Amino acid sequence: VLRLEEVRKTYGGTVVLRDIGLDVPAHTVTALIGASGSGKSTLLRCANLLEDVDDGAIFLDGEEITDPRADVDDVRRRIGVVFQAYNLFPHMTVLDNITLAPRRVHKEPREQAEARARELLARLGLADRAREYPDRLSGGQQQRVALLRAVATRPRLLLLDEITAALDPELVGEVLAVVRDLKEQGMTMVIATHEMAFAREVADQVCFLDGGVVLERGTSAEVFGDPREQRTREFLRRVT
Ligand code: ATP
Ligand code: MG
Repeated sequence: VLRLEEVRKTYGGTVVLRDIGLDVPAHTVTALIGASGSGKSTLLRCANLLEDVDDGAIFLDGEEITDPRADVDDVRRRIGVVFQAYNLFPHMTVLDNITLAPRRVHKEPREQAEARARELLARLGLADRAREYPDRLSGGQQQRVALLRAVATRPRLLLLDEITAALDPELVGEVLAVVRDLKEQGMTMVIATHEMAFAREVADQVCFLDGGVVLERGTSAEVFGDPREQRTREFLRRVT
């Protein structure tokens, strides 16, 4: 679904991503792990065209999206994104947050979009929150709604950047359960996370970023169970 080829990104002369190659097959989960500043968020922002790459190419479903002629809006419609916090529009109800893109961008009739949103909410036990505003929800509920909003348009790919980082520990589990659920439904995802136990469990592919380089890549069992690189071992020892 997503492929990066020798992607290079610099900020004012500092190299932040160095020749990143990455292949994300359909219906798989890729976890990006690595120390703060290693380039995880930058990689996700490049994949969503929120940042221009300096060199290399990114492909979505075989189409080069880093081509200057690519339709940026169309690419963003095919990719769902959830960040650490402040994902919801505060002045809109939960229902309006979820149905905004399906109605505006995909021209779904209101009844149809709302019926689907209510069905998604019901599955998460949030049916009674449909008419609430985000500030009346817990952080965990807000992030679960943000995930629903991101998938309401049926994207090809979901990019998740530290979606539990701003949450109280007791709320992390309910958000990760939704990600687990999305995986079971076959959603293709790339997840930057500091939740190592979760990455180990949910990821098909794990990439360890170190100073803007994919230093090690493998299955979850390989990278967590038997890392090849000394630096990966040191990192995992520090954070687990
Ligand atoms: P964290 O785990 O803390 O979220 P990260 O792996 O997501 O870290 P990035 O946010 O991708 O790391 O940052 C990678 C490097 O790029 C860092 O050195 C950071 O200072 C730099 N950087 C990120 N965004 C910018 C920017 N807009 N301008 C300049 N430098 C930036
Ligand atoms: Mg980050």
